[in-house]
Amino acid sequence: MERERDVSLLPKAHLHLHFTGSMRPTTLLELADKHGVHLPEALTGGEPPKLRATDERGWFRFQRLYDMARSCLRDPEDIQRLVREAAEEDIRDGSGWLEIQVDPTSYAPRLGGLIPALEIILDAVDTASRETGLGMRVLVAANRMKHPLDARTLARLAVRYADRGIVGFGLSNDERRGMARDFDRAFAIAREGGLLAAPHGGELTGPASVRDCLDDLRASRIGHGVRAAEDPRLLRKLAQRGVTCEVCPASNVALGVYEKPEDVPLRTLYDAGVPMALGADDPLLFGSRLAAQYELARRHHAFTDQELAELARQSVRGSAAPEDIRQKLLAGIDDWLESPPA
Ligand SMILES: [Zn+2]
Repeated sequence: MERERDVSLLPKAHLHLHFTGSMRPTTLLELADKHGVHLPEALTGGEPPKLRATDERGWFRFQRLYDMARSCLRDPEDIQRLVREAAEEDIRDGSGWLEIQVDPTSYAPRLGGLIPALEIILDAVDTASRETGLGMRVLVAANRMKHPLDARTLARLAVRYADRGIVGFGLSNDERRGMARDFDRAFAIAREGGLLAAPHGGELTGPASVRDCLDDLRASRIGHGVRAAEDPRLLRKLAQRGVTCEVCPASNVALGVYEKPEDVPLRTLYDAGVPMALGADDPLLFGSRLAAQYELARRHHAFTDQELAELARQSVRGSAAPEDIRQKLLAGIDDWLESPPA
């Protein structure tokens, strides 16, 4: 067998990680205990739950589990702990830059309202970043199951707090609901305020949803975007524009978007020149973190160390990291390639 370098030592940027979904399973159990929350067996079994989101019922079940986990985050200390542990896990996996995605609306009821919730989250990110040394920023994500006016409110808020560590605006939840263009005003507000547009698309629905993100929301990054692989013209467009797809292969398999790891079209996107940033999405529910996504590319798609390094470079280039951090990470990637394989 060929000797390989340790992917957890490969410097990379992590651009697709949801807030509650980043939680350690053991932390979830402790917080549930602390607050007297009774968790369903699917969350306490020590194994990631069996999920299937290719129909609305399956997606609903996934969301319900997510909501249950989120309900265990009740006070500022819980938020601080979650963020610090997300940073620690990322560092262990070789991440040198983390953009964490959150809809503060979901935390508002327990944290004293939307603005207090956002401030607690941003403070926690700032503290964790200083204490761990990991560069961290926030993407505020609107929920497409809610009214577009809610998304506009969030976009305005995100712009107002841009200097407190918000770099982007997203749109999450079931792609089958509503149209991307319903959220075009919210995205215009975010873009005009200097935030990058990074909506989810091309996960639960096909290439058309990615096209909508590009045309209607002027996305500069796409959450997932994998199903663009079904449309060669769209792939060319993504490559030409340099739109980074935040591809989360383990999530895709866990949710049944693809049957097996080898079915995730990593090669198709890579060969088409579409920049990718591999991400873990919701490690709490899918059972694997950042380095495991690179390992999956190696094991199931035969990515060489050169190619894994190129994927890591793409993640750094697609990030909102400042120039000095980008240079440091890119130099670290070169060093990784020059290090002897284990
Ligand atoms: Zn996501």
